[in-house]
Amino acid sequence: MAPKTKRPEIPLPDQMKNLPLVEGGYRKPWFVKGEDFRVTDGEKAWLSVSKKACWICGNPFIEPTYAMVGDAMSATIRIYTEPPCHIECAEYAMQVCPFILYPNAKRRTAGLQAEDLLENQKKNAAVKVGSENPGEFYITLVSDFVYHHDEQVMAFNKEDILTLQHWVGGVRQQSIPDPILRPEQVPEASRGRIG
Ligand SMILES: [Zn+2]
Repeated sequence: MAPKTKRPEIPLPDQMKNLPLVEGGYRKPWFVKGEDFRVTDGEKAWLSVSKKACWICGNPFIEPTYAMVGDAMSATIRIYTEPPCHIECAEYAMQVCPFILYPNAKRRTAGLQAEDLLENQKKNAAVKVGSENPGEFYITLVSDFVYHHDEQVMAFNKEDILTLQHWVGGVRQQSIPDPILRPEQVPEASRGRIG
């Protein structure tokens, strides 16, 4: 018998309809290597950033609008570690499996620093990442971004921001904290990127 879809009241985006439904009722994201959702596929990370394919569903972007999902630090310094997604796919993931997806989000604690390199995004590499997850995310929708291969991060300019969303425990918040982080909460190396 096929597993029951988790949160059936949340409409599944068309782009995600080809993703397999796995035990537990979740759609298996395109980025998952093998069975464990926490193990991301380095090859697909590379495809997502180089060919511009959605990290969640694997389909191309028709419009140049890229949803970047990460934590407060990412939103503040405009540097994200997860490859881009369709906004529909990101919003679906936020509501249906906020504690399973985006395993890298909490790993980002500083700006462009060597210890932040995400090995799982290296081509042909895969690494198991921690299950710890804050359940609090920021989605920045941008019209353009640059992938920095050496640091393996996505960065963008203020001018490229279309919208900013704040999600806590799978619920989109009415307002964005202002400031998201105080300057002293941001590592010195990254403070030039605030504002
Ligand atoms: Zn997608």
